Amino acid sequence: MNVLVLNAGSSSLKFQIIATDLGRIKDHKDDRICRGEVERTGGEAIITFQRQDEAKRKLTASLRDISAALDYLVRYIASDQSGVTEICSTADINAVGHRVVHGGELFTQSALIDDKVLQGIEDCIDLAPLHNPNNLKGIRAARELFGKGTPQVAVFDTAFHHSLPEQAYLYAIPYHLYRRYRIRRYGFHGTSHRYVAFRYRALRGLTREQTNIITLHLGNGCSAAAIKEGNSVDTSMGMTPLEGLVMGTRSGDLDPAVASLIAAKEGMSSSEVETLLNTQSGLLGISGLTNDMRELLAELEEHQDRRVGLAVDVFCYRARKYIGAYLAGMGGADAVVFTGGIGENSPEIRARICESLEWAGLKIDDAKNQQTVGREGLISTDDSKLLAYAIPTDEELLIARDTVRVILGQPHPS
Ligand code: ADP
Repeated sequence: MNVLVLNAGSSSLKFQIIATDLGRIKDHKDDRICRGEVERTGGEAIITFQRQDEAKRKLTASLRDISAALDYLVRYIASDQSGVTEICSTADINAVGHRVVHGGELFTQSALIDDKVLQGIEDCIDLAPLHNPNNLKGIRAARELFGKGTPQVAVFDTAFHHSLPEQAYLYAIPYHLYRRYRIRRYGFHGTSHRYVAFRYRALRGLTREQTNIITLHLGNGCSAAAIKEGNSVDTSMGMTPLEGLVMGTRSGDLDPAVASLIAAKEGMSSSEVETLLNTQSGLLGISGLTNDMRELLAELEEHQDRRVGLAVDVFCYRARKYIGAYLAGMGGADAVVFTGGIGENSPEIRARICESLEWAGLKIDDAKNQQTVGREGLISTDDSKLLAYAIPTDEELLIARDTVRVILGQPHPS
């Protein structure tokens, strides 16, 4: 089955086509046909396209919205120009899998999209006003292009965390506010946490029930999850992705009174403060330089800039604090798993986060840590009681696999 995986943002559309079926899922032998991104729709859009592992190509086209972007993409992929021999027309795309950010309390697993599911995603807009409307645009554009005969599946960022117990998801605010508005912790990056937990147990030959780990997704957005007996029992992002770890441009945890003080002193509205906490804070906010960890580390090595050093220190300390909290919360774990752009590629940050975790039995093996960049591997010493792994995430692959499983009516354990 050729599955088109779509991730629709406000002015961008990420895509991947993956050929997969139950046999290939079992053998971990899915085929990546092509992938890429359309950026800056609404004007002169930039299209990045990559067939299998070939070099990336850049194209430009005037595309007014997500629907035009999808139309352009599929036409290009089906044309001789793209070199994609597997796709010659829309009929060669058998299904579409969508990343949907917020599934609220409604969606506890991936769902075949029908009118009821569309309505459900719409009902969650209050909880994710910046994300769900764009995801819906992607779904509607695909419906229009492929017709109702091509099944579409929604894979929710929140779904993996549906197993959080009340003690972990309730905020200590008046309970009626939870009842009235569903204000609670939902958590995000669920597809990523779920995927690396799956790879961890595959690497170690364990069952889902034997999976007791802390996963750290450290990319531009960052989150931690406590996974006990295969289920997410706590996670650092909250009702929105703003809570928890320090991120590229998000503050993470903060005394809520800070928001009112910034609003009063700077003459800002509450939504302006929220934007500041989402887009001007985190690594960018402290360093005053960039949200890009690679650039920060290079800058630190060259100039030992104090604020850059502080940004990295605060980032690593917060992550370590969450490891400690989750070890306590879940009564110990077997491993810490690093993923995301930083978690997969930066031995330095992994080592700094794990510094002084020897009391918990975690010792990083310097050589293994240095060698494990952009690939799966154990990075702790042989005598470490708490293991550490780096595992590249693959949300698109999991979305494609869920799409196949949902369409075939196969249960899909998270
Ligand atoms: P997103 O959350 O947007 O998917 P990624 O998971 O790609 O982002 O992560 C982006 C982050 O990963 C950036 O801060 C980038 O600098 C960082 N990163 C990528 N490679 C390295 C590296 N070799 N060393 C340190 N940081 C890296």
